[in-house]
Amino acid sequence: MFRNTTEPKVSHSDAIAGFFLGLAHIIGDMYTYYKLLNDVEELSRAGIKTGVVGRSGLGRPIPYARFGSRGGRRVIVTAGIHAREHVSSLLVSRQMSALAAAADRFAAALKSGGIYFVPMLNPDGNLLVYGGADTVPDALKKPLIALNGGSDDFSLWKADCAGVDLNTNFDARWGTGAQNVFAPAPANYVGTAPFDRPETRILRDFTLKVDPAATISYHALGREIYWRFGQSGAALERDRRIAEFVNAVLRYDLIDGGDGFSSAGGYKDWCVSVLKIPSLTIELVPKNYSHPLLDDACIADDFVRNEFLPVRLLQYLITTDI
Ligand SMILES: [Zn+2]
Repeated sequence: MFRNTTEPKVSHSDAIAGFFLGLAHIIGDMYTYYKLLNDVEELSRAGIKTGVVGRSGLGRPIPYARFGSRGGRRVIVTAGIHAREHVSSLLVSRQMSALAAAADRFAAALKSGGIYFVPMLNPDGNLLVYGGADTVPDALKKPLIALNGGSDDFSLWKADCAGVDLNTNFDARWGTGAQNVFAPAPANYVGTAPFDRPETRILRDFTLKVDPAATISYHALGREIYWRFGQSGAALERDRRIAEFVNAVLRYDLIDGGDGFSSAGGYKDWCVSVLKIPSLTIELVPKNYSHPLLDDACIADDFVRNEFLPVRLLQYLITTDI
């Protein structure tokens, strides 16, 4: 695989680097942080409100885009929290372009509410998958390669640049997940404490500020929808209705067994248990695929099913007043 040889600077030069690395994208067929920066810049030029929610562990800006109103009902859509699931960031980027082109069609919903997209929460992990240890500062190269079993092929890496699995680092039954591990690793390490990583603190603070009515977190793979995390009573029924609405659109597998505690510390888990809002983890890509996933794993059908899901969920929240 083509590798960039210098630590990319976070600035407009990223867009230029992205252009050249885009050549590798054709070969490697992978949606990178550089491509995302270009896509967000294009949205901004088209008049969409864009900004930065904060900076990653290695200082890279984590972009967001807002469609519609700051008031009314709001939905947050996130992707790319797991490094190797870059296909989820590609999907969200396509959702944003599609919505920008179809804003008139959804004008009523976007007047009564808004959608906040955070397409790639883990840019350091994304670039590690793409370019290996050449994308991190010198002091981190050896330790990361050691964590990765001595290999500079990070194509299966899920964690951030500190070996923390960001989707186990939220304060929701932290450290109790069946697959959790307690030392830095390519996946499943919960960190030293909830929110000990900048990326999870950033998403927590952004979520508290936006105060959404619901959240969607895109992952891959399996074409499954997870929505439970210990809800009971009216919240359980409300969240089940919303999950069923979403699955009527997507026709994936709605995972409805047990209390949802087999995993823990995820963003969805925190939203459900602390914010008490309906929150969904959506796993893209059919089950017969396996990691590492190339961009074409997000086959056209997955894109068609998900294309307008966030705005349709917003419409549902507004019209049902759930
Ligand atoms: Zn994931």
